[in-house]
Amino acid sequence: MPTSKNYDKYKKIICKIGKKMYQNGFISSTDGNISIRLKKNLFLCTPSNVCKGELQSNQIILTNNKCEILEGKGHVSSEFYTHLSAYEERQDISAVIHAHPVYSIVLSLTNISLCPPVLPELIMTLGEIPTTDYATPGSKEGADIIKPWIKNHNALILKSHGVITVGKDLNQAYSYLERVEHSSKIIFLAHLICTPDILSKEQYSKLINKIH
Ligand code: 13P
Ligand code: ZN
Repeated sequence: MPTSKNYDKYKKIICKIGKKMYQNGFISSTDGNISIRLKKNLFLCTPSNVCKGELQSNQIILTNNKCEILEGKGHVSSEFYTHLSAYEERQDISAVIHAHPVYSIVLSLTNISLCPPVLPELIMTLGEIPTTDYATPGSKEGADIIKPWIKNHNALILKSHGVITVGKDLNQAYSYLERVEHSSKIIFLAHLICTPDILSKEQYSKLINKIH
């Protein structure tokens, strides 16, 4: 949890992560959003409807849990209520990222789940990645839909829409996003050839024992 009042440092990290998301193709155009919890009910969030790959520090908005703008111009991200929903459920996190990575969305469109134990590294780091029901992007419904899932998962696929990841800091949330999309790509390519192998019960329990 950040303690310094030097919010500029966190604004710069948001810009850096936005650029990485854009360069790696996890977002296009004005997609995606990023937020950081600075302290209870105080957040930095990306503005709505701008390219998150080209953000400048002075565009990052300081806001509260009512979405009021305390510093900055424009509108707070249309998904900020969904971010707030994650912060409410998880006192252990201080960063949320939402993106539109191609392979993860394709899997959700084709009803291929990231829950079956296929990739050991994914099981050891993120475990199951559930796909939520569909919700209109930027809606209150979207905030409600993630609630039961985000309690126990650091990454979710939003049906036909994108991915949301949370972390103890922004680098961790970004690293989860990268891992989800890389795994989705592998699973997508495997499905082009045949149904991928699932780990046996024994292979799965060995992995679980390794984690605990
Ligand atoms: P914002 O630009 O409002 O953050 O929205 C982008 C997005 O991905 C909506 O789902
Ligand atoms: Zn979106």
